[in-house]
Parts: sequence; C-alpha cells; structure tokens
Amino acid sequence: MDKSGLAAIFKGPNAKFEIRKYPVGSPEIGNVLLNLEYSGICGTDIHICNGKLQMPPKELIIGHEFTGRIESIGGSGAKDALGNPVKVGDAVIACVAIPCEKCFCCGHGELSSCMNFGVTYLKSPEEKPHFHGGFAEYLFSSLKNIVKIPDGVNAKSAAAFPCGGPTIIRACKYAGGLEKGELVVVQGTGALGIFAVALAVSQGCRVVAIGSSSNSERKRIVEKLGAELVLDYRMTPAAERLKKIHDIAKAHGRGNGADVVIETSGSPEAFPEGLELVRTRGRYIVPGQYSSSGGVKINPELITFKAIRITGSGQYCMDDLGNYLEFLRENRKTQEIFGECITHEYKVKDADLAIADVAAGKAIKAVFCK
Ligand SMILES: [Zn+2]
Ligand SMILES: [Zn+2]
Repeated sequence: MDKSGLAAIFKGPNAKFEIRKYPVGSPEIGNVLLNLEYSGICGTDIHICNGKLQMPPKELIIGHEFTGRIESIGGSGAKDALGNPVKVGDAVIACVAIPCEKCFCCGHGELSSCMNFGVTYLKSPEEKPHFHGGFAEYLFSSLKNIVKIPDGVNAKSAAAFPCGGPTIIRACKYAGGLEKGELVVVQGTGALGIFAVALAVSQGCRVVAIGSSSNSERKRIVEKLGAELVLDYRMTPAAERLKKIHDIAKAHGRGNGADVVIETSGSPEAFPEGLELVRTRGRYIVPGQYSSSGGVKINPELITFKAIRITGSGQYCMDDLGNYLEFLRENRKTQEIFGECITHEYKVKDADLAIADVAAGKAIKAVFCK
C-alpha cells in the first residue's frame, strides 16, 4: 500500500498554514526516513510566523525540533552524526542546521558559529522527498543531522528542549562553563531559561530565575528544577530584584552580584539589567536575543569598571545535541520534569491552532505528534 503523510506548509508571515498530503518514499543513501514522535514548536517558529525572522518568500515546511523513529535507512552500516550505529526503530533527534564547513569559524572548529549556516528545510515541499522540515508526520534527514537518543533517555523528555538545551550548553561552553557554588541568575523562564536553570542546578550552582508569573506552571517547573528564588519581573521593581540578588550573593560569600547571568528572555530591556546584576569580573551569557526587537540604552561604564565578560551565542552543533542527551541520561529527575514540560500536544493538521496557542504563551512546551 502506498504510504502518505501530512505536512503543514508555511506560506508566509501571518498567513494560515496549508495542510498537504504527500506520498512517503524511500530515503536515498546516507539518509533516513523518520516517523514523527514529537516535533517541537520553538520561539523561533513564532518569530518566523509573525514575520520577525525573515524567511525566503516561498512555501516551506518549517520546524526544527523533530524527534522521530527511524522507519527506513538508505544504505547499510549507518551511523549518526556522532558515530553511534543506528537501526530501524531507533528514536533520534534531527537537527536542521547545516554548517558550511568552509568559513573562518568552521575552519577553527567553531561549527556552532558558522557564518553561512544552511537549513535543510529551505526547499519547496513539492520537491521530493517532500518532507524537508519539522512540522510534518515524517522527515527525511541526512545521517549527519541526526543523533540517536541513548538508552535511559525517554523520547518525550528529550523532545522538550532539543533546541533550547543545546543552545544553552553551547553558550555556557563558550563562556567557560559554570562552576560549583556560583550564583547564577537566569533572565527568562521560556525553553532556554528552563534548561539554563536545570543545567546550573546540576553543576551545583545556586540559581535565581527572573520570569513572568502569567503562567504559574512555569514558576512551578523552575522551582521543581531547583531554583531557590523565582522573581516576577512584573511584580518586583528592578531595584528590588537587584537588592535581593546582592543580598543572596553577600549571604553566601560571593562578590557584588551574580557570578553568572544568563539572558534567555529575548527582551532587549533585560540586557541593561543583566549588566547591573552581574558581579565584578562576572560572566554575562547572552543566547536569548534571537530576533531584533530594537535597541536599548545601556551604561557601558559598567562593562569597563566591573570588567564584565560578555558572551553571545545563538546556534549549536551536533556535539552540543549529543551533550544535551548525555545531560538527560545523567539527570534522571530532570528528565522526568522535562517530560512534564510538554503541556500541549497537537496534530499536524492543527498547525494554526498550535502556533496561536504558543504565541499566546499557553504552553510551557508544545509539540506536534501523531
Ligand atoms: Zn528552536
Ligand atoms: Zn561555516
């Protein structure tokens, strides 16, 4: 029997998705056919849908957080991007980014900062094998773009932050990592923020999160992951937040503020506050500003006099994805909590509703599934 599957076609900013059925063929050599388990909707997808992040003006299957099972493999002796053997039935995470391997950064081993990143889904869905992106019931992917979910890691938990997790891991690697006993302030409690809290707690850091309590479930999750204080930026004035964080630093023998501040909110206004919150010689890690919302006034004097180290990072590579899965394998309790983070599940045919719900902030993490 000929098999077919549905794909949600992105037709431009603020346009409705078109649901289309395509035949499901066989993968070419070096590729796999994946059957949808969970395909996450990321903040980036919302930026694409509302036009804040420009895409080429053509039909696309967007979505870059696809967790699926291998249904068939083109060729024999298949291995994933990290060299793990893979077989039919294995659960994997597919990444859509393709570093060019030619630019200065790629040449210096910094694939996560490739200056000419390609994306697998920038192809017309009419072009075979049709399923190029995440918002669909199937995905064809190169073996170079998948990582096997290891034994001991639940596919649903892994599907919670397959983009936010590796993004934070990379940003922290660039900033020299987190150290036991440090006071870490996480600005924002979206996907990146939740993962940053989990990572910092696992490294033995003391964590304060600044988020919004408009979704009380978010606060609950962040506390459950081990944040000792969650401040609502709408309810507490900035001066009070600064004082609270200074008091905690002082009470634990740290410096004149947080050792590390991680900006994940994407709000430009968070940046000047981060410069205030971080201690002298502290690190300010900024992976969250993934679309332009305009500029803000800062006081550059703070950077000079506090000798602040600021590190940006917006992408990740397959190694980071492997580290994310390893992190989940080593942190069973976190893994369970991540499973709880998937609060909304949608069929591919309901893409418009899914995007609207995520844009309205209803979900902690929303996914498409079968
Ligand atoms: Zn993403
Ligand atoms: Zn490159």
